[in-house]
Amino acid sequence: MKGKLFVISGPSGVGKGTLVKLLLQEDSSLALSVSCTTRAPREGEVNGKHYFFLTREEFLKRINEGGFLEYDEHFGNYYGTPKAFVKEQLENKSVILEIDVAGALQVKENYRDAEGIVLIMVVPPDMQTLRQRLVGRGSESAEELEKRLERVRFEIAQKNRYDYVVINDGLEDAKRALQNIILQETFRGDKV
Ligand code: 5GP
Repeated sequence: MKGKLFVISGPSGVGKGTLVKLLLQEDSSLALSVSCTTRAPREGEVNGKHYFFLTREEFLKRINEGGFLEYDEHFGNYYGTPKAFVKEQLENKSVILEIDVAGALQVKENYRDAEGIVLIMVVPPDMQTLRQRLVGRGSESAEELEKRLERVRFEIAQKNRYDYVVINDGLEDAKRALQNIILQETFRGDKV
């Protein structure tokens, strides 16, 4: 296995999706893990690119076979990180997993070669900024917003279990911080 596994998580609205996209665009030695899900594809979603779409039976069979690094249920559907796919990518590249905090901690526990895993949490500069970003999206009621912020507080409270915390106080700086971590971790242990 050549690559490292970079698990990037953080509260929703923190901008991690945008950051991950930028990292992949600028570094061809990185690959993105494609998750499996039992939910139906949305318009424009391609099997094997956005997700691997599985039936519930297929998914449950894979759980029994130990085929996931982690999995979870969201809104009545299963989502999981396929072990074999990630291992295959790691032969040539480092792999980014963009998953939530619970999933990230599961990966660290389940993965035998924990040395090869780097957990990075992206956090907002402060709660007020995140609140404004979520309000700006305008997709939630006041009650949903409070629930989401409660969840965010819980997620951020797990940050000490992470290897790195990156504050997203500006995309360019946060991207550079992530690139530095990736560079440093990729060559850690190499003889100069
Ligand atoms: P969506 O259906 O909108 O694509 O995703 C719904 C939720 O599933 C999101 O919160 C997303 O982060 C989560 N999710 C997507 N892939 C995975 C995965 O591989 N593992 C876990 N634990 N959650 C995932």
